[in-house]
Amino acid sequence: MRPPGITAITLVVVVYLGAALAVLQGFVSGGLPIDFSASLMAQVSGMAAGYGAAIMLILMSRSPWLERGVGAGRLSRWHAWGAPLVIILTVLHAFAAVAAWAEVESIDLIAATYQVLNLPGLMTALVGTVILVLIGVTSIRAVRRRISYERWHFLHLLTYLAVGFGFVHQLAGPDLVGRRWLQIAWALLYCYAFALVLRWRVFQPIFQLWRHRLRVEDVRQESEDVMSVLMSGQHLDELRAEPGQFFRWRFLTRETWRSAYPFSLSAPPTRHRLRITIKASGDGTRRLFAVPRGTLVFAEGPYGVITSRRRRRPRVLLIAGGVGITPMRSLFEVIDLPGKDITLVYRASKEQDLVLKHEIDEIAERSGARVVYLVGPSSDTANDISAHALNRIVGDVRDHDVYLCASPGLAARVRGSLMDSGLPRHQLHEERFSL
Ligand SMILES: Cc1cc2nc3c(=O)[nH]c(=O)nc-3n(C[C@H](O)[C@H](O)[C@H](O)COP(=O)(O)OP(=O)(O)OC[C@H]3O[C@@H](n4cnc5c(N)ncnc54)[C@H](O)[C@@H]3O)c2cc1C
Repeated sequence: MRPPGITAITLVVVVYLGAALAVLQGFVSGGLPIDFSASLMAQVSGMAAGYGAAIMLILMSRSPWLERGVGAGRLSRWHAWGAPLVIILTVLHAFAAVAAWAEVESIDLIAATYQVLNLPGLMTALVGTVILVLIGVTSIRAVRRRISYERWHFLHLLTYLAVGFGFVHQLAGPDLVGRRWLQIAWALLYCYAFALVLRWRVFQPIFQLWRHRLRVEDVRQESEDVMSVLMSGQHLDELRAEPGQFFRWRFLTRETWRSAYPFSLSAPPTRHRLRITIKASGDGTRRLFAVPRGTLVFAEGPYGVITSRRRRRPRVLLIAGGVGITPMRSLFEVIDLPGKDITLVYRASKEQDLVLKHEIDEIAERSGARVVYLVGPSSDTANDISAHALNRIVGDVRDHDVYLCASPGLAARVRGSLMDSGLPRHQLHEERFSL
């Protein structure tokens, strides 16, 4: 994985600094000397959970500085790590708060629960906690596999409600009450988080729908289960989309409006057209095969960091597996190098899986760039992608910026070979089709 850039490193430092301050506030608000009690546990876990919840919203707000500076893949991996922690801290906070109340009031836990839930904002906070736990449970891999992506995603949207419900009681909580500046800072953190979400996940896509009027102009079957969708619209150059990037596309028909799917651009964007190429890999993508010409398209983005701007080396190696060819085909056309030292390695199980082959051959002929097709079973030595084989294809992999997009299994093998070849990590630019 490409080492984090300055934005990612700065963000990590700021987020951890903020977390340390929140936890510290939890410790000191209980007063000195520190008494390791249920009350302290409630305050520290409450501050950490409240802070963490706001940070999770910011990370997934799709703000351009985050998407471009950190990358959608890394952001969702941070989110997948941080979100369960926030849920655990929230539940811990709830139990510790009730236990602390029972201790102070010298009553049993049942009575304490009843009394606590009658405090202002606590019933709402409980509802918020239950929603968060539900979202956490449905995001566990074994459970998520049993739910359609659409249903899982709809549940996930309830996170905003749950975090909002949780916020209601926080300013009046023992950590912040009576501390004016802390309350203002805390409220500003939450306002910023929700403002980012509204700006980039609600208003921006709606504005883009109005401004660009993107519609399906043409659909072309590339193979039995792959089709290209050509869309036309207005002022598309204002999107500043680049080859290698992706959008989240929502096709506004009765059958398909519920979900936005990430697809990479499969041709360089122009002032009036965008194109994607979709493989039918599940119910959602299969439904898209019936989208009629003229359909209005809601496009969120552009997102993704594997663009030609990442190139630093004088030579480029593009490696694609199956439908992972889409971002590579766009880059193949636009990456400009003296002596055109670009090699595209395209791996597929069957000849008919080499979608967009005619375009790739055309670009290669026009530009003098090289294409190597590796077709058939992995057991076939001709399809070897070991370090030795890759060096045999391009001379020395270490002289290259390598762009990679393939299925998880193939991508892992290629990454291993590249590392075995001594490729520095910052010269590997990878797009993964699973966020
Ligand atoms: C950055 C990126 C770029 C991609 N580019 C392309 C491309 O150019 N061409 C192409 O054919 N595929 C591309 N994909 C993959 C494509 O998005 C999935 O194959 C598609 O979302 C699967 O939907 P489904 O309902 O058919 O499959 P399901 O069987 O429902 O799901 C298969 C997998 O896709 C995930 N998934 C399903 N729906 C969504 C969604 N709406 N948003 C995010 N993930 C979802 C599920 O979690 C599951 O892991 C890309 C994915 C990413 C992350």
